[in-house]
Amino acid sequence: MLKAFAGIGIQYVQIFHYDQGGCTCSACAPWGINGGILADREYAKAVREVFPRAKIIFSLWRYDIFVSGEWEGIFKILETPQDFADVLVISLGDLDKVKNRTPGNLPVCSFPEISMCGITPWGGYGANPVPGKFSAFWQQGRKILSGFMAYSEGIYEDFNKVLCLQLGWDSSRKPEEILEEYFSFHFGARGGEEFRKVVEILEKNLYHDALIEQNGKNYSAYDLQSVKPSEPWTLRHRIKLPADPEEAANLLRELEQRLPAWARSSWRWKLFRIRGELDKELARQEGKSTEKAEEYFRELEKIYFLNLEQTIPALTPPNGETWKKKVEMNSDRDGVL
Ligand SMILES: [Zn+2]
Repeated sequence: MLKAFAGIGIQYVQIFHYDQGGCTCSACAPWGINGGILADREYAKAVREVFPRAKIIFSLWRYDIFVSGEWEGIFKILETPQDFADVLVISLGDLDKVKNRTPGNLPVCSFPEISMCGITPWGGYGANPVPGKFSAFWQQGRKILSGFMAYSEGIYEDFNKVLCLQLGWDSSRKPEEILEEYFSFHFGARGGEEFRKVVEILEKNLYHDALIEQNGKNYSAYDLQSVKPSEPWTLRHRIKLPADPEEAANLLRELEQRLPAWARSSWRWKLFRIRGELDKELARQEGKSTEKAEEYFRELEKIYFLNLEQTIPALTPPNGETWKKKVEMNSDRDGVL
């Protein structure tokens, strides 16, 4: 497979030890410093052969989660000469572990989790702007990290993408400035200050979880396959809204009046508008859906090109009818029927 891409001169190849594979059997354990390394040596050899100038990014993501001893072990392994790691990638939660020295003194990068944070299903309620959280990411990470990897799961976090790329470019940039630029560039109007206020509220009100309740148990989008389609269930929206959702929705309505038609009908704008309206509607009903809310969920389905057979539950906006179909299809969290 590597040979098929030989002509394009790939500069970086990543080796991830979890999600893309991994094994916790006793022969491989601890995978990240035993079975995984055996595979990595072969993999790295093949990479060096086809792309002699490529650097290998070696992931320590999820080390010590499934088995222990991986962090300690990798410090030891990378002390000796090796040919399978040039750059390390870690999760931000592990920043402390590399504060004083890094395994093998290798440069370390991380990736901001802009997608699956706070709202389940991801993007299920519209936009999820979190400028406060990512400014903190840069404040913590900039002295230790050599950079970051761009990582995205959908279009609903478009603003977070722009923010992270801007802060990666220049960590001294102010998130407020980036927000105002985003507003004027994508929506072609003045109103950055009000938009900042909206985003401040949406970030405070980030937590959302759609839950199916059946026989006293709750099932989230990760676990829809455990719901029994033949028995009655109800869908609730568990949301935490410490800031005023009415204020955000009203500001968004006012702002919309000023936008040119092209901006008003753009998916970027609609994602904000829908989030504002949904929060307001669901807050009024204490997490119970309404016909209006269902319409907003359906609009999100259109924006995301939802495919009932293929879109995984964790990416399916929690419209009652659609979730009913998903439950009846009995697909697991990865969408496998
Ligand atoms: Zn194994």
